[in-house]
Amino acid sequence: MEQKMLACPVCQSNKAEIAGENVKLSGQFEDKEFLTIPLTVLRCVKCGYYMFFDNTAEFTTDGQ
Ligand SMILES: [Zn+2]
Repeated sequence: MEQKMLACPVCQSNKAEIAGENVKLSGQFEDKEFLTIPLTVLRCVKCGYYMFFDNTAEFTTDGQ
């Protein structure tokens, strides 16, 4: 799986794998339902922490 270079806020690992792309999260706030913009979900390979980024975020990749 493709890996991105970044720093995990929990363990400072710089390796994460893509857990999902174009993921929209829904929820409720004060009786109104909302849906987020499409997000890229990265999961730290070391501690399993999930990180969410909007699709405009860019990451340093090796190759591709
Ligand atoms: Zn981590």
